[in-house]
Amino acid sequence: MSKRELLDAISSEVTICQKCSLWKTRKNAVPGEGNPETQIMFIGEAPGYWEDVKGKPFVGAAGKFLDTLLSEIGFPREDVFIGNVLKCRPPGNREPQPDEIQTCTQYLDRQIKVIQPKFIVTLGNHSTTYIFSKAGLPFTSITQVHGKFHEGTILGMKVTIFPTFHPAAALYHPKYKQQIANGFKQLKQELSKKGIV
Ligand code: URA
Ligand code: SF4
Repeated sequence: MSKRELLDAISSEVTICQKCSLWKTRKNAVPGEGNPETQIMFIGEAPGYWEDVKGKPFVGAAGKFLDTLLSEIGFPREDVFIGNVLKCRPPGNREPQPDEIQTCTQYLDRQIKVIQPKFIVTLGNHSTTYIFSKAGLPFTSITQVHGKFHEGTILGMKVTIFPTFHPAAALYHPKYKQQIANGFKQLKQELSKKGIV
């Protein structure tokens, strides 16, 4: 099977998944989407209101900002893969619970294995915590690790992990906006150095 077919098969499973209680309150599951041949994955936390309505990742206000950041580094969103730790919206956008993360990340892990990205950009605290733990890297706080490149091995693959603050944080705190934008500039430089953009 091609990468596209493998990702589509995962999405079909996610769409009907009832493995944790979040299926009861979702309108649509949000498997994540993008180019199966990409070398870079962006991983957020969980669907919010609009993602749940549309079944697509990062389509609300935070998503608009993410699109801007991506276009500034020369990537239309279709060229990368965008996904989340949790595939269904927690009611009222509450924090993901540890048991939900534990249950749902089998899907994210499978997506990572299919895509085999060179870079994983973790958007925010939950995504960074999960990917760092997977890589066996010590995680202190997003403030400590953001804006730096961390080499790690995830699921047997060498990847560069680049954490940033969550784009939603920028909507409430302008100081994060600049920091996230700076992070994306660094990312662009690194990707150019490696011949990826
Ligand atoms: N926030 C996230 O973490 N993920 C989305 O898909 C949308 C908002
Ligand atoms: Fe299944 Fe994940 Fe949705 Fe829970 S959040 S129902 S594990 S897809």
